[in-house]
Amino acid sequence: AKSEGRNRTSFFSDELEQHIIHRHQLELLLRDTLSNNQLQVYYQPKLCLETGRLLGAEALARMQDHQGQWVSPSEFIPLAEETGLITELGRQVLRQACQECLGWQRLGYHVPVSVNIAAAQFADPLLVKQITDLLTELQLPAQLLELEVTESALMLDVSKTQSMLSQLKAAGTCIAIDDFGTGYSSLSYLKKFQVDVLKIDKSFVQEMLIDRGDMEIVKAVISLAQSMHLQLIAEGIEIEAQKDMLIQLGCSVGQGYLFSKPLSKEDFKAYLQQRATV
Ligand code: C2E
Ligand code: CA
Ligand code: CA
Ligand code: CA
Repeated sequence: AKSEGRNRTSFFSDELEQHIIHRHQLELLLRDTLSNNQLQVYYQPKLCLETGRLLGAEALARMQDHQGQWVSPSEFIPLAEETGLITELGRQVLRQACQECLGWQRLGYHVPVSVNIAAAQFADPLLVKQITDLLTELQLPAQLLELEVTESALMLDVSKTQSMLSQLKAAGTCIAIDDFGTGYSSLSYLKKFQVDVLKIDKSFVQEMLIDRGDMEIVKAVISLAQSMHLQLIAEGIEIEAQKDMLIQLGCSVGQGYLFSKPLSKEDFKAYLQQRATV
């Protein structure tokens, strides 16, 4: 039993060592990717569930390792937040997304783009200026940019975040609360932050047909949005039955694999052009 205990200790320290090495390699990869401008951005369509009309696209960061394997954002985004690299990552995603959106507009497609803003980005006092400067530089109408912010970001430094968001709203951008229902926003926060859109988290959408509790949450979010005159969008729609239920409950905008996975910028342009001809 004694030697077993010893083995276990070394097993765990090996694991810890592997973990630290992996993390370190990932950080180097992220630094390299950012300094070589190799971060990619994919776009997932947002649609009217009833008519299929395209209403927007969400920009999602993508990174490959040196072997060309994709690294999941759920791995590199938290790392970027912890290391402070999120400021640069956020800047690059924002610029690429706005440039693409401008490109779509020049092709004749009026498609707003949504960009995720991590909680840590609100610690950057230059965030608002960075966004408004970019819109001015590109001559992109602010109405074409939507910012997706999580509840946790709002809770960090309430008065500072509130003032940043109200400046962004004054500039004309739209604000959505991402992963709504998973955090702890209260009604008073929704009012205070002048939110435009509630985004129903995919965990609820994916289980609403099999879990009564999730169904109740979806219903509650929909009725909250309706009574506060907020727009709604459901994410993570994978099957027809989820789409039908959402429409029935009063949510008519959504995104998910049922319609399209996130697409590279080339594939998204092809998607736009294909749709236009059908
Ligand atoms: P999110 O903002 O909630 O984005 C939605 C995630 O759900 C994306 O994962 C998307 O690919 C995935 N998704 C879309 N439709 C479906 C579906 O029907 N089924 C399932 N199972 N998943 C679906 P992704 O791209 O892996 O991103 C994960 C998270 O990483 C994002 O969650 C967001 O929090 C973060 N993230 C991604 N890109 C950025 C970025 O540029 N900036 C920041 N701050 N965060 C980002
Ligand atoms: Ca999002
Ligand atoms: Ca989400
Ligand atoms: Ca559940």
